[in-house]
Amino acid sequence: MQLGWTSAQQELRERFLDFGRRQVSFGTTDRDRDGDFDLDLWKSQAELGLWRLPVPRQDGGLGGSWWDFLAAFEGLAAGADDFGFLMSTIAHAGLIRVLLAHGTAGQRARFLPGLLGGQVGATAATEESGGSHVARIGAAAVPSDSGYRLSGEKCHITNAPIADVLLIVGRVPSLGARDITLFLLASSSPGLSLGGHEDLLGQRSSPTGSVRLDRVPVTEGDVLGGMGRGLETLYSFLAFDRLMYAVAVAGALELVLQRGMDRAHSRSAFGRPIADHQYVQDKLVDIKLTMEAARWLGYSAMSGLVAGDSQFSSQASLAKLVASEGMVRAGLELIQIFGHTGYERRNGVDRVVRDAIALRLAGGSTEMMKKNVFKILAETSRTRAAEPLVADGAES
Ligand SMILES: Cc1cc2nc3c(=O)[nH]c(=O)nc-3n(C[C@H](O)[C@H](O)[C@H](O)COP(=O)(O)OP(=O)(O)OC[C@H]3O[C@@H](n4cnc5c(N)ncnc54)[C@H](O)[C@@H]3O)c2cc1C
Repeated sequence: MQLGWTSAQQELRERFLDFGRRQVSFGTTDRDRDGDFDLDLWKSQAELGLWRLPVPRQDGGLGGSWWDFLAAFEGLAAGADDFGFLMSTIAHAGLIRVLLAHGTAGQRARFLPGLLGGQVGATAATEESGGSHVARIGAAAVPSDSGYRLSGEKCHITNAPIADVLLIVGRVPSLGARDITLFLLASSSPGLSLGGHEDLLGQRSSPTGSVRLDRVPVTEGDVLGGMGRGLETLYSFLAFDRLMYAVAVAGALELVLQRGMDRAHSRSAFGRPIADHQYVQDKLVDIKLTMEAARWLGYSAMSGLVAGDSQFSSQASLAKLVASEGMVRAGLELIQIFGHTGYERRNGVDRVVRDAIALRLAGGSTEMMKKNVFKILAETSRTRAAEPLVADGAES
């Protein structure tokens, strides 16, 4: 397990922290108010090489590791002060990772250059009928003369309104029971149309919207990871997505904590800074605790994922659970520390909690994280119960 950044990774972290601070932070309040995504910033991020970091050289990347990417991303999160931008970044990173892990040489050659160079990627699973029970989705590909025709409608999809490349979670009913299949499509595919930005409570600088598929022609060459193998592929994607949420929260809370500390030291009540009051200190310590717990659970999940450890899915769910619930608490406590000033929208303190609420849903809800952790816990305890406490022939 990696327990700290190497000096090269520290440098990457600093480079993207600086980009976050100097460029992304600028205009955050306006983007939040107007629900705007800044495509120029997105392109600058690509030019700075974020996407190329973990991609092998033969695929047009820099040949680094996903740890390198995570170091850079954590720096970005600590500097950016724009969770919507991070949300879009997480969605795009997940698509690149799944494409590298499961894409054919042809798919990588077709889609990677654009995705590394400033195009936008999205992964669409959720439908109006519900997002938690992925196996029940309705988008389906039915046989046609030239392959299949894919029809259905997705909603609440990060980056969808501006996506160039989409991973669509669909099914191929003719395969029988195990029919969930992932389709990798250009947004310019005939019959595919993108909806506008949904008007959300938070994450307003990340464009979220619908995807309509009206008899989109698809072939086996558009399938990622094999026909009927969509769920396995999706689960490895989701674990990475979830640990990235945790690292994003760890980074973002550095800024939240700094704001809270500055306010607690500069604001006085009863003749002394409110930082001297233990109830206020408690809030700041709680933010620090969430920050560190999210960070280290995120790293632990990443270690498991890289090593192929069977517990990585549980660790990733725990990381997301701690991070998203803790971020909501941190946002509420920040408003409390700021008092009425925090409750006034013009000061932007409220944005932390509005953005955080989305984290309890996106990438799998808090309840589904708990279900996942408990399922693995129960399986592990059943296996342990089946093992003899003392091995045959051993002495106690
Ligand atoms: C900002 C944002 C970005 C998003 N981006 C994407 C994206 O890029 N791609 C994508 O596919 N989706 C995306 N989503 C959708 C997200 O994945 C879904 O909102 C989420 O999966 C929950 O689905 P749902 O909203 O349909 O709620 P439902 O599935 O209808 O669930 C409603 C409530 O019931 C609870 N629940 C459901 N089943 C159980 C159970 N078995 N046990 C206990 N509780 C249960 C849920 O936890 C939830 O609280 C995004 C959502 C948000 C808010």
